[in-house]
Amino acid sequence: MARPVQYNIYGQTDVKLVKEGPEGHTGEGFFATKLSEVVGLARKNSIWPLPFATSCCGIEFMATMGAHYDLARFGSERVGFSPRQCDLLMVMGTIAKKMGPVVKQVYLQMAEPRWVLAMGACASSGGIFDTYSVLQGIDQIIPVDVYIPGCPPRPEAVLDGIMKIQDLVGKESLRRRNSEKYKALMESYGIQ
Ligand code: SF4
Repeated sequence: MARPVQYNIYGQTDVKLVKEGPEGHTGEGFFATKLSEVVGLARKNSIWPLPFATSCCGIEFMATMGAHYDLARFGSERVGFSPRQCDLLMVMGTIAKKMGPVVKQVYLQMAEPRWVLAMGACASSGGIFDTYSVLQGIDQIIPVDVYIPGCPPRPEAVLDGIMKIQDLVGKESLRRRNSEKYKALMESYGIQ
């Protein structure tokens, strides 16, 4: 079901965009949908990011948080530095192998459901640092949901990555985290 939503873009109050609502049945005075759709809708529009920034990509994230790009439009302005309060781990920057266990510990301290976004070439693949000391992608230690390419990615790319995460979060089944497939994924990373 598509419903029109009005936005105020740079003072133009008459700009109308169409935003997707949850699937369901509409009748006179009622709208019925599935619980998973409602939970997905709430979760995807209230993601709390934990920025784990070690180098230059972190600066690009700061630009994304500024007024011009305004992550608050996606319900994600509440950046937290306690893993126990956040549900999106954003890893940005070069991760040295020594730092790997720290990233994993932060991930383990986050409550389920949790998602991971690798921002930039370094976090995704080690980037230009093909050396003995740099982790060649954080997916060697924790599962990653979305990768943002670029060195560094522009704020638009970061917003695109957040929107991809929103898609995943909104469509995720409430039972996914209890599935055998998910348990096998966790076990492949040595996580019980
Ligand atoms: S991907 Fe590029 S900009 Fe980002 S941390 Fe690595 S070197 Fe810096």
